[in-house]
Amino acid sequence: MTNLATENIVAGPLREKIDIIVLCSLHVLGLTIGMALGLTAEWILFDGIEGGIISTAVITICSVFFGLILTTRYYCQFTSQVLELFNINLIVAVHLIAIVGGSYYMIAHFAWQNIALGVAMFIICGHGITAGYHRLFTHRSYKTFPWIEKLLLIAAAASVQGNVKQWLYDHHLHHGSDNRPSVVKDPYDIRRGLLYAHFGWLFWKRKLAPDNIILSQSAAWQVKYYGWLMIGFGFGLPGLIAWLLWNDPLGGLMAGGFIRVVLEWHATWCINSVAHKFGTNPFNRPDQSQNSFILCIVLLFLGEMWHNNHHEFPPDYRSGFSWWQFDSTKWLIWTMSKFGLTWDLKKTPRWKIKRALKRAKGQSLSLGC
Ligand SMILES: [Zn+2]
Ligand SMILES: [Zn+2]
Repeated sequence: MTNLATENIVAGPLREKIDIIVLCSLHVLGLTIGMALGLTAEWILFDGIEGGIISTAVITICSVFFGLILTTRYYCQFTSQVLELFNINLIVAVHLIAIVGGSYYMIAHFAWQNIALGVAMFIICGHGITAGYHRLFTHRSYKTFPWIEKLLLIAAAASVQGNVKQWLYDHHLHHGSDNRPSVVKDPYDIRRGLLYAHFGWLFWKRKLAPDNIILSQSAAWQVKYYGWLMIGFGFGLPGLIAWLLWNDPLGGLMAGGFIRVVLEWHATWCINSVAHKFGTNPFNRPDQSQNSFILCIVLLFLGEMWHNNHHEFPPDYRSGFSWWQFDSTKWLIWTMSKFGLTWDLKKTPRWKIKRALKRAKGQSLSLGC
């Protein structure tokens, strides 16, 4: 007997591409129906489009319903062994809600408090990823108190990028394949294309973090409660703040939740894509990592754009080595160390950096670059 599921998986990349197109189309359909229903309901109830509260809510429900429930039920037979359906639905739904529902609501109900809340959440949650997930938990670049670890883990959970265990596992593989591409698989390998490295890698099933990874007590706590922390602090908290302080819970949810999450996703994803494609490679690294000045625009507040430096010396608590290489995460960790909140900051000696640069220059000259 032929196995239908296997047959469809064997059909290969074309089938997968078609599936993603159909999946996105169903989301758009859900969104369109949601908008039609929402606007009609609002017209009847308020005798006109009054504020967009109902339509935004119905758009959200319809998009999530069509995306998460209908498509998952339809596709689980065919592609669940290949595609990461939850990620696809989540990424598409959050983008649609942010771009359509969010921008509509933000324009209809413009309030500078919501913008300020979104920017503050972006900076705080973004540093949960850079100072927390990346430099503390993955590279062990410094030490801090368990309560600060927990605060960073909460901020990182609100960034909706998965729990700390899977994040650090993926990132270890990314660095592990620097010089041994055939031995260890980089989950977001730039050689598979710019879009794949940006977010395409999240659409396919990948290796899950093994159970034997040893986690600190605070990391294990975050893994256990990740879902609650993500929803509570990523979406509930901005809605609650805006509700209590300026009586606009939906505005807070959109600006501090959905729109901020989308912007933060792309800022992080740019490090895997843009920072491995555009910029300079002063350490002549084979992983194509770049010091990407162009990323100052999106990463001004996070400071991970000196990615070539980081790949050369991953344990260093800094990504920007020179005074002009602005790196807010470095300054955050350094400032905290002055107050005794962080310690044992790992810093590469200047002579080592100079020696590596000299060696890289020599290599380039001998290759005729
Ligand atoms: Zn990298
Ligand atoms: Zn790293």
